[in-house]
Amino acid sequence: MLAFSLVFLAALALATATRLWLAARHVAHVRAHRERVPDAFSSEISLDAHRKAADYTAARTRFAMVDVATGAVVALAFTFGGGLQLLHEVSASWLADGIARGLLLIAMVGVVSALIDLPFDFYRTFVTEQRFGFNKMTPGLFFVDAAKGLIVGAVILLPLAAAILWFIREIGEYWWIWAWALTAAYGIVVHFIAPTLIAPLFHKFSPMQDAELKERVERLLERCGFKVKGLMVMDGSRRSAHGNAYFTGFGASKRIVFFDTLLAQLGPPEVEAVLAHELGHFRLRHVLKRMAWSGGFSFVFFWLLSFLMQRDWFYSALGVASPSPAMALVLFMFVIPPFTFLLQPLGAMYSRKHEFEADRYAAQHASARDLASALIKLYRDNATTLTPDPLHSAFYDSHPPATVRIARLQKA
Ligand SMILES: [Zn+2]
Repeated sequence: MLAFSLVFLAALALATATRLWLAARHVAHVRAHRERVPDAFSSEISLDAHRKAADYTAARTRFAMVDVATGAVVALAFTFGGGLQLLHEVSASWLADGIARGLLLIAMVGVVSALIDLPFDFYRTFVTEQRFGFNKMTPGLFFVDAAKGLIVGAVILLPLAAAILWFIREIGEYWWIWAWALTAAYGIVVHFIAPTLIAPLFHKFSPMQDAELKERVERLLERCGFKVKGLMVMDGSRRSAHGNAYFTGFGASKRIVFFDTLLAQLGPPEVEAVLAHELGHFRLRHVLKRMAWSGGFSFVFFWLLSFLMQRDWFYSALGVASPSPAMALVLFMFVIPPFTFLLQPLGAMYSRKHEFEADRYAAQHASARDLASALIKLYRDNATTLTPDPLHSAFYDSHPPATVRIARLQKA
């Protein structure tokens, strides 16, 4: 028993210390480069904008450190501190042993975790983002979003959890293969319905009005051989000044979504180049590849869960005296992240590889120069640092550092 307690504690301590160390490096690196715009950007980005990006990055990263440290304390409180055992006792005082009680335990852990996260999100939105002029959200909208998020999460996840608990009870030894297959299929269905059923609960979508831009985009789609269901503009400006564009759905439900903030920031040729990049992700099957990887990982995780679920030491080593399948699911969620943390650089590297590939696709089907100028505007307007700490960037960044990315585009 003690051995696994120590293994978990060591992993949690290592992951937390590494995160804090990377964050501290990042802040120091960004601050050290605060007074000079990198040469490649000196004509487009002013020293003031560069300083703002440094201060914004430092503020966000420092607060992320508080979040990381709190996360470790919360994980300890839920496990060794007896939090999960307490929630089990509450659920057991209301319901008899069974799937309903298991779901109640899972729901309570979800609600408590969401309530712990809420003040952090609030601070990020109304202090950090506010201070740098990015927040457009009102507190009312913030709480409505949080409540909707919790309800949508429950509607999506509780039926899946119920099915998994039912498999565990009815199928026996190989329940985990069924649970894995169902989870994978369910993920695909949710991905399919998200653009039309979930996203509209949070945002307003309207068809693109700008005739000139629309024509440009349609020409690009034709050139790349794409058929889509709709060109939509999303009211991102209700929440944040940060801009973005994305491409969602498969098959007949494919649609392209531009944040209104992005359209306000970029000229039509730049929007076209950004879209070409997004089409590149789709054409090169990046979404499918990521889904295949995560399907492979979740196969291993489900097997591991089925193994741990039957060991008494898994529960007792983590401060839980009442083993149950639902408790195993919940414990697993707390225990796995410190162990998978070291895989994060691989995931980030894979993502950056895809970004380079999508940039290359954009350079072939639109203009590399327009994409570079779009990215520079986005770095500037989103106050993205041009000088991240290289190690921090290698660990976390899903997108290549600005200097490397722009240099490659300028060569294309
Ligand atoms: Zn991309």
